[in-house]
Amino acid sequence: MYDDNCLFCKIIKGDIPSTKVYEDEYCYAFNDIDPQAPTHILVIPKEHIRSAAAVTPENSKYVSHIFEVIAELAEEKGMTEGFRVVSNCGESAGQSVFHLHFHVMSGRPFTWPAG
Ligand code: 5GP
Ligand code: ZN
Repeated sequence: MYDDNCLFCKIIKGDIPSTKVYEDEYCYAFNDIDPQAPTHILVIPKEHIRSAAAVTPENSKYVSHIFEVIAELAEEKGMTEGFRVVSNCGESAGQSVFHLHFHVMSGRPFTWPAG
């Protein structure tokens, strides 16, 4: 379930400190250490899934649950003008931590397509 060499697994376990925004049985949400928007939350499954490319019928329940949590956080945090959800998959797409995570960003206008 946990990968001892994974930064985000260590954050879930509390071995590395983070600013918790939300937690339940399936996921953990915390503030990004290098925010790219006034609100920048990372939502991660409590199962070591490497990336969006490693989602399967067996673990996709984590992903659907995370999107329910994102909708709740958007309401709770007043992201009324919109928000962006991003999951970088693979190094060329900008993934630097290989534990599936969803960036939830809000509080400024966003351009499209993203860099
Ligand atoms: P990626 O580049 O893989 O899409 O996203 C990884 C994110 O994790 C980056 O936005 C980065 O700022 C964030 N991050 C990396 N290390 C830490 C950390 O130790 N604590 C927190 N809160 N965020 C981190
Ligand atoms: Zn992990």
